[in-house]
Amino acid sequence: MFICEGMAVSAADATFAPFSFERRDPLPHDVDIAIQYCGVCHSDLHQARNEWGNTKYPCIPGHEIVGFVERVGAEVTKFKVGDKVGVGCIVNSCRTCDNCRRGLENYCLNGMTGTYNAPDKETGPGRWTFGGYSRRVVVNDEHVLRVPDNLDLAATAPLLCAGITTYSPLRHWKAGPGVKVGVVGLGGLGHMAVKIAHAMGADVSMITTSAGKAADARHLGADHVILSKDQEQMDKAAMSLDLIIDTVSAPHDINAYLRMLRTDGALVQVGLPIEPLPVKVRSLIYMRKTFAGSMIGGIPETQEMLDFCGEHNIVSDIELIRPDQIDMAYERMLKSDVKYRFVIDWAHA
Ligand code: NAP
Ligand code: ZN
Ligand code: ZN
Repeated sequence: MFICEGMAVSAADATFAPFSFERRDPLPHDVDIAIQYCGVCHSDLHQARNEWGNTKYPCIPGHEIVGFVERVGAEVTKFKVGDKVGVGCIVNSCRTCDNCRRGLENYCLNGMTGTYNAPDKETGPGRWTFGGYSRRVVVNDEHVLRVPDNLDLAATAPLLCAGITTYSPLRHWKAGPGVKVGVVGLGGLGHMAVKIAHAMGADVSMITTSAGKAADARHLGADHVILSKDQEQMDKAAMSLDLIIDTVSAPHDINAYLRMLRTDGALVQVGLPIEPLPVKVRSLIYMRKTFAGSMIGGIPETQEMLDFCGEHNIVSDIELIRPDQIDMAYERMLKSDVKYRFVIDWAHA
């Protein structure tokens, strides 16, 4: 075991404070990573504040991790000291179930191990995983990703969650040339969805509550911007989209967005509000529409996404913060005031 410094919350209403804890020394298949940057995802906020009701305290969030390999276990061959690597939302999975064998570790039938707030099977009973709001992380080598050399390291961090969470449904529902894709919510996930869908060749509509984000949306790759608070614009966009990726973190009227789908269109929910989202069946049945969900992505697809971003030179638009600014970042995130991902700078802290 070694001592690692991080930033933790001790209760749902607590603010972040420095916290030292033990991490395991690398097992034969582990990689010990010196974290340089970690993105701040809205899921971190939901978890830190126990909005999903399952938080174990102290809690150290963070699952958009990039850094350099510091040490490797005796049997690691894929990585060596100094390699530029990433870790997303998954640090372990059973590797034997049907889903793991298909590269869908995110849907591991025996329960994947989340990067934070999950029972840590390898370190031992009673221990929970701690995420990337810390200086180091030790991860099984099959769950470590290679970061393309040409990408800026800090701006790559958000790809590990925001990138894969939007890439996976865009691929699954076949975004590409001739496909009209709508993205709801221009935050961390939304801005990655716009960039990736644009790079895939789709026609992209940004659907936002924030009139002030229209110019940014176009700059990020949106072909059209629809202000969801303007009923006239929403009416005009009715039945115009094939696929909608909904990244909204708060309760909202899903039926208003289902109305925007064409025949056989799908609305994929990736945002995870606490309350149920009531769906009018009428919104679905008339034009054989689908209301679906998607959660992050498997390890092979996460590597595919990173390589795709490397080829297309896609990174996140980020605002670097110090570890002691996490609470401020959360408050701004709640006001939809994020351009477009906060990233904790451990390299200079
Ligand atoms: P974020 O950066 O805070 O962005 C959310 C955006 O949603 C806001 O910027 C805002 O965009 C829009 N929004 C907020 N409140 C709204 C409301 N009441 N009505 C309509 N739009 C609203 O959050 P994020 O990090 O992208 O995460 C978004 C959600 O995805 C969170 O719930 C998170 O837990 C979840 N998530 C899910 C997965 C998964 O695997 N499925 C992975 C990561 C995160 P505008 O200003 O443009 O309206
Ligand atoms: Zn996330
Ligand atoms: Zn499995």
